[in-house]
Amino acid sequence: MKITELHLYAHPLPVRDGPYRMASTEVWSLDTTLVKLVTDSGLIGWGETCPVGPVYQPQHAAGARAALAEMAPGLIGADPLQPLRLQRRMDGLLNGHRYAKAAIDIAAHDLMGKAWGVRVADLLGGAVTERVPSYYASGVGEPDEIARIAAERADEGYPRMQVKIGGRPVEIDIETIRKVWERVGTRMRLAVDGNRGLTTRDALRLSRECPEIPFILEQPCNSIEEIAAIRGQLHHAVYLDETAEDVATVLRAVGQGVCDGFGMKVTRIGGLRPMAVFRDICEVRSMPHTCDDAWGGDIIAAACTHIGATVQPRLMEGVWLAQPYIEGHFDPENGLRIEGGHIRLPEGPGLGIVPDESLFGAPVASFG
Ligand SMILES: [Mg+2]
Repeated sequence: MKITELHLYAHPLPVRDGPYRMASTEVWSLDTTLVKLVTDSGLIGWGETCPVGPVYQPQHAAGARAALAEMAPGLIGADPLQPLRLQRRMDGLLNGHRYAKAAIDIAAHDLMGKAWGVRVADLLGGAVTERVPSYYASGVGEPDEIARIAAERADEGYPRMQVKIGGRPVEIDIETIRKVWERVGTRMRLAVDGNRGLTTRDALRLSRECPEIPFILEQPCNSIEEIAAIRGQLHHAVYLDETAEDVATVLRAVGQGVCDGFGMKVTRIGGLRPMAVFRDICEVRSMPHTCDDAWGGDIIAAACTHIGATVQPRLMEGVWLAQPYIEGHFDPENGLRIEGGHIRLPEGPGLGIVPDESLFGAPVASFG
């Protein structure tokens, strides 16, 4: 099979009841990038990448499209059924920019599944569940409001809740965690995500003042070095998210014992193939992790759900989807939805998503 055409689309995803607040930024609307690979077989594959604004990580939407345009002419003629060779070809065309390469990798997995009549989860080792656990992430908000949201999500059946903190006095973050814990107790597992926003001083204080509340502390500080410096003094398990930038960094963090688990994003690490490598490293060392993406529509949601379905259940911290925060679907019939805190694995071959292309308008760039 050969790639004969590559089309890029830009599509806005407004945040429902926005903005969505994190420690260092707020977002009102996301700008997702879709990749359509056309092949000489007649099969079409879809990929997507959608940084959650330009501040969350050193990635942004226009950067994704520029990187994809840089690589695209060199990808015409490549075989999408050989994902390792495809990745090396991309690395030979552009250094870094894993989040852009991920969109190509996801589209190639969609094509592989369609070519062989299997789901992406089966390509990635096999689904262990058809009902993949999700988790809900609150934005940074007032303590009583976040506690109310947490109670609602527990009632809905979510197995896990992530409370966003940071960007304000740590006393309010501590009050928020306490109120959530009082409302939901052990009905949901709890994660507290600082999104790099806490000083080591405040991370230590937050952990010291809540020793009896069993949350994991996700990416409290800006760097691995800061987290390593306080790790031995914390009362809580620590996960890396934003700073676990690639497989090499994951190996370093695991080897140095810097963390107890990860929040991981499919596009940050470079797509489904490197994500499967990450999953296997975590399984070898019994490290729990999520299978998320920063934001995005049904293509990204399907990619995260397929890899999430393959994770050993005791290590699975959930698949986060943007779906509850955005309106509509690319595929009204098969689009991914969170119901009862879980996501049904799509059934069709490949990603199992048939996007309505008319939603995307004309391509912003076409190659081939
Ligand atoms: Mg996070």
